[in-house]
Order: sequence, then structure tokens, then C-alpha cells
Amino acid sequence: MLLSNSFIPILKNNPSEAKIKSHQLMLRVGMIKQASAGIYSWLPLGFKVMKKIEDIVRQEQNKIGAQEILMPTIQSSEIWKESGRYDDYGEEMLRITDRQNREMLYGPTNEEQVTEIFRSSIKSYKSLPQLLYHIQWKFRDEIRPRFGIMRGREFYMKDAYSFDVSDEEAFYSYNKFFLSYLRTFKKLSLTAIPMAADTGPIGGNLSHEFIILADTGESKIFTDKRIFELDSDDTQLEKGSLESMRKKYEQFYAVTDEKFNKEEFEKIVSKENQLITKGIEVGHIFYFGDKYSKPMGASVDLPGGKKDFVKMGSYGIGVSRLVGAIIEAKYDDKNEIMKWPLSVAPYDIALIPMINKNDASALDKANNINKELLKNNIDAIIDDTDENFSSKIKKMNLIGAPHQIIIGKKSEGDLLEFKVTGEETQNLPLSKIIEIITKQKNSI
Ligand code: ATP
Ligand code: MG
Repeated sequence: MLLSNSFIPILKNNPSEAKIKSHQLMLRVGMIKQASAGIYSWLPLGFKVMKKIEDIVRQEQNKIGAQEILMPTIQSSEIWKESGRYDDYGEEMLRITDRQNREMLYGPTNEEQVTEIFRSSIKSYKSLPQLLYHIQWKFRDEIRPRFGIMRGREFYMKDAYSFDVSDEEAFYSYNKFFLSYLRTFKKLSLTAIPMAADTGPIGGNLSHEFIILADTGESKIFTDKRIFELDSDDTQLEKGSLESMRKKYEQFYAVTDEKFNKEEFEKIVSKENQLITKGIEVGHIFYFGDKYSKPMGASVDLPGGKKDFVKMGSYGIGVSRLVGAIIEAKYDDKNEIMKWPLSVAPYDIALIPMINKNDASALDKANNINKELLKNNIDAIIDDTDENFSSKIKKMNLIGAPHQIIIGKKSEGDLLEFKVTGEETQNLPLSKIIEIITKQKNSI
């Protein structure tokens, strides 16, 4: 892609209305454009990153056997009256009346809608478990929308729902999502810690929030540092393995402020392991049994001939919030360099030819390099503008392709001036550069 043809409206300076680095960068490089309070349009650069995050989320849902559906954004109030949440949800719900005077709403979440789908089709324990998910816009009329897309009113969420015959089977489903969340955030190069959490208006009794550390986060967390050393790499998708993985995490104290108890914290966690800090909630999982299936009459036939209400859980990931969360974790705002993980980067590499007025050879060379990159599925952005060197580098550092090739004096013959963005220059032939990037891409 040539920069001169792309829609990347870069601002010279940080916009003054943005208080945190993710919001600043997103406005600065034109990833988003505010439409009204807490509501944003996604421009090409931002949209590309969000779609890549969405793909990773989708792959990891599919891997645990969840099936993708798509439910509407607009829901009928009827099902929310059945569950009892139409009144309980309060002012965060955007309520709409259609031309027939029917009460509708823009979905803030989908427990009711998915329970309605389930109860009309599934009648027997033999069809369980069912794991369904969708990736869809939500609307919550947040009292204080802020930090750009971090706390928007309209936002993009992956929400999944599990249906099981018993508590035991439901915990198995819960643990599958627990693992898929750990894997998803790892692929996004984020360290997200599962923390015991309150269930809030979703209801129920078992819940974890997945939180990444950031000073600008809105969640206060209290944890045993040693939880950061854990990984889930050897976990299998079978009951016992998943159970011991969750136990491994739960052996360490890790809670948000709703669950915090000072006395308990100081008793359980030794002084040197205590960490009190802030974080961003990127995912939240709940188990709530028959909270919705009972009032909405979603029951299944059991083996012995009896019937029971299906046991449910729900599992959310803030796909649009993750764009901001990755920036908070990876943006070096002092040097104004964005280091996108390759898995979600808007471009794999930036080609920066130093163009003289009467000499197009550097641009020709960039175009030829691009042809080779394309053959190898490497997505490049080429700065074909005639700005000076330092402003080109500045711009590309902000856009944040993880690699750069600078085509100037130092790129002589077959050796090219290659950089991992923000790091030292290396002189390498194109074939080697392609090999390096391809290897990284294959390991995602
Ligand atoms: P929060 O405490 O941040 O309001 P929540 O507990 O209300 O979050 P859930 O209902 O669990 O959120 O939603 C699942 C995920 O959706 C959250 O983990 C978060 O990543 C994302 N999310 C929730 N509210 C917003 C919002 N207003 N803007 C962007 N993302 C959001
Ligand atoms: Mg909320």
C-alpha cells in the first residue's frame, strides 16, 4: 500500500482532549474518529488492527469447540421482561420504541437472546454441551464514557454462552473458556491475569476477570506477584488437565477491589509477594447456573426421564477495548514508537525510500521489494511521499509496522538497511528479511 493513496490522517501533535496514550495515538494516527460521546468510526488503520484481533479471538473460540452465530444488535424487551432484567439493568440500557410502539433495546449483552434461541431448539441432554458465541456491537449508555474506545458507549465484544446438563459439566465448559482466554491474550502478546471477580448485574457465583497491568486501567487489583510466572502451555482440553490448570492459577491470591479483603490479603500473601496496582479488564467470564434458564423456561430432558433447567455461563472479551489495551502495553510514548505485535500489526513492514526530486530510483527499488514481499504474503506500507527523512521515520514509528526497510545511502546493492522498529539497524539481503518475517508469522 502506498502511503499517498491510503487514508491515514496523521496529526502533527497529540490531540489535547486525549488523556491516556492509547487514546492519543489512536486519534494521532487516525485509527478512529469520534462520532459522538463514546461512539466512534473506525478508520482503515484502526479497523485493520481490530479485525486482526477479532480473527485471533475467533480462532481460539473455535479451538475449544465453540460455534459462531450472529445475533442482532436490537432486541425485544419481551425476553428481558421474562428474565427480570428489563427493570434491573437501569440507565445503561438504551431503550428504543419502534413505529408500532413496541419496546426494543440496543443489546448491552445477550444472555436473554441466546437463551431464547436455545430453548426453542434444544430439548435433550444428548445435545449438550452447547458452546455458542458471536462477535457483535454492544451499546451501554455508560455514565462516564472516556479514554476513547476503552470505555465507549458503543463497543465491539465477543460474547460466548455455554449450556450444560450439570454443574460439573458446566465447570468443564467454564475451564475451556478460561484456557482459551489465556491462549488468546498470549497470542496478542499480552499478559492477562485471571482474577476472582464479582458477578455484578450478570449474576451468579463463579467469575474471573482477565486483567492486564496498566497505570491507566480502571480496575484496582490485589495480587500475589508469583501468578505472573504461570503459563498454560501444557494444558490439554480434557477435564482433569483443565481443572489442574485453573487450580494452579487459583492457588495465588488475585482479586479486584470488589473482592478485596485486607486482612485476608496480608495473611495469605507474604510482604515481598504483594502487588497492589491497576489494570485494564479485557475479558470477563461468569458461571451463573440457572439464573436465566429458570425464569425463561429453558429446560432439557435428563437421562432418567426428569427435566431440569440448563446450566449456563457467559464469557466476554472486549475486542475494541483490546486495541487500546495493546497500545497501553506496547506504546513507547516518550519516543513516540508504537510496537504492534506482529499478530495484529496494521502492516508487517514499512518501506521508507529516501526520494530525491530528480531521482525516482529509491522508489522504484521500494516497489520492486514490495513485489517480492507480496509474493511471500508480507504486507508492506510504502512511504512514497517526498517529505524529509526524519518526518518519514517519525510517521512510520507512529503507525508502528513492526519492521522497517530504509532505502537510502546505506541500502547498497543487495544489502538493505533493515530494522525491527525502534531498534538497531542491520544490513541484510531481502531474502533473509523475508525469512525472518515469515518465520515470525508462522509462529503466531
Ligand atoms: P467494566 O467493569 O469495564 O465496565 P463489565 O464488567 O461491565 O466491564 P462485561 O459485561 O463483563 O464488562 O463485558 C465483557 C468485556 O467487554 C469487558 O471485559 C470489557 O473488556 C468489555 N467492555 C465492557 N464495557 C465496555 C465499554 N464500555 N467499552 C469498551 N469495552 C467494554
Ligand atoms: Mg460495565
